[in-house]
Amino acid sequence: MSTIDFTEPEERVALREAVARLAGKYGREYIEKQAREGGKTTDLWLEMGRNGFLGVNIPEEYGGGGGGMADLAAVLEEAATAGAPLLMMVVSPAICGSIITRCGTDEQRRRWLPAIADGSLLMAFGITESDAGSNSHEITTTATRDGDEWVLSGQKTFISGVDEAQAVLIVARTADARTGKLKPALFVVPTDAPGFSRQLIPMAWQAPEKQFTLFLDDVRLPTDALVGDPDSADGGLWQLFVGLNPERIMGAALSCGLARYALGKAVDYARTRTVWKDQPIGAHQGIAHPLAKVKIEIEQARLLWQKAAALYDAGDDFAAGEYANMAKYAGGEVSCNATDVAVHTHGGNGLTVEYGLANQLVAARLGRIAPVSREMILNFVAMHSLGLPKSY
Ligand SMILES: Cc1cc2nc3c(=O)[nH]c(=O)nc-3n(C[C@H](O)[C@H](O)[C@H](O)COP(=O)(O)OP(=O)(O)OC[C@H]3O[C@@H](n4cnc5c(N)ncnc54)[C@H](O)[C@@H]3O)c2cc1C
Repeated sequence: MSTIDFTEPEERVALREAVARLAGKYGREYIEKQAREGGKTTDLWLEMGRNGFLGVNIPEEYGGGGGGMADLAAVLEEAATAGAPLLMMVVSPAICGSIITRCGTDEQRRRWLPAIADGSLLMAFGITESDAGSNSHEITTTATRDGDEWVLSGQKTFISGVDEAQAVLIVARTADARTGKLKPALFVVPTDAPGFSRQLIPMAWQAPEKQFTLFLDDVRLPTDALVGDPDSADGGLWQLFVGLNPERIMGAALSCGLARYALGKAVDYARTRTVWKDQPIGAHQGIAHPLAKVKIEIEQARLLWQKAAALYDAGDDFAAGEYANMAKYAGGEVSCNATDVAVHTHGGNGLTVEYGLANQLVAARLGRIAPVSREMILNFVAMHSLGLPKSY
């Protein structure tokens, strides 16, 4: 009889503890200071890289730890729980690292993966376009062949971390060699390529990671900028989901970390804040029950992302897709609920800068919108898990 193992292996528990120690050394104060002063998280990022935490999912022969998505997601969850939610981990090692590992040539792997693993190179990821939004089948950034080169034209929006990145993995469309039909194709675009420019999008969320609109005006790239084979039988979709499933798993883990951070703060406050005689506010069920409910929701969401990551690491991309979506939904919900409850537990202090929770209301909200919105996940589950008619 086979068993289901609900405990993490010893190595991952030790990995979590080591990340918690390192990220805790920097903590929320460091992230907030960088965000306030227009700084970046480079010191923390590079220390995470030097310790092997950013590249745990990258194969050992390319400078990584040889682990899987479950390890990388555990790293991000612990960093976020310690108050240092490293958004670019969702992008550089998870999306770009996975796509290059599984779909790149050996030469591309040797070129990009060691630097992604040690954090010395940051690769952003660009799929979203303003006129396509959630309907990424409608993206219009195109790649055309011109002799030995690819020429990319189009625009992207909301692309994170481009000011810190040396390259962006851009999702464009190219004509199928046989049918002429447009298919998704992935290109590594250096951020200093002629014709590539960016414009900052002012966001209400105060974070070191910034978002940008990108302009690709006839950006010329060598043939080996193309990662994967857009002419594959599935129309280039598989290689896209090799990156998008990790994105969702990491999004879920990040959200769980935000939720654990908020819950930790709220519980500490509920234990110590006393306004009625000598009982702390946490003695009142009106305060304790919402916190207990959040605890249950966090554990539900963690089980979902752990299952999604286990399926992904086992190579079951189809099942991983379903669970990555459900995990991402559950994570987005619990990060919002947990932060809201934590703010409320703190009363007026919840909205002060000092207690560091109000800004997280915006960060947590991101988990319901990106990388795929709550509604698009419900559309997916209704159609693929429940067999209902396609509604979009
Ligand atoms: C902080 C931040 C960082 C980001 N970083 C990146 C990045 O690094 N790279 C990148 O490529 N993108 C990035 N994005 C973009 C993100 O993935 C998109 O914002 C997200 O996919 C939603 O697209 P949209 O904003 O165009 O919303 P829209 O598609 O315009 O949707 C608006 C609303 O309508 C709902 N909706 C749309 N269609 C349907 C439907 N059929 N049924 C029901 N409801 C529907 C949506 O759920 C949403 O609530 C980032 C976004 C943010 C805010």
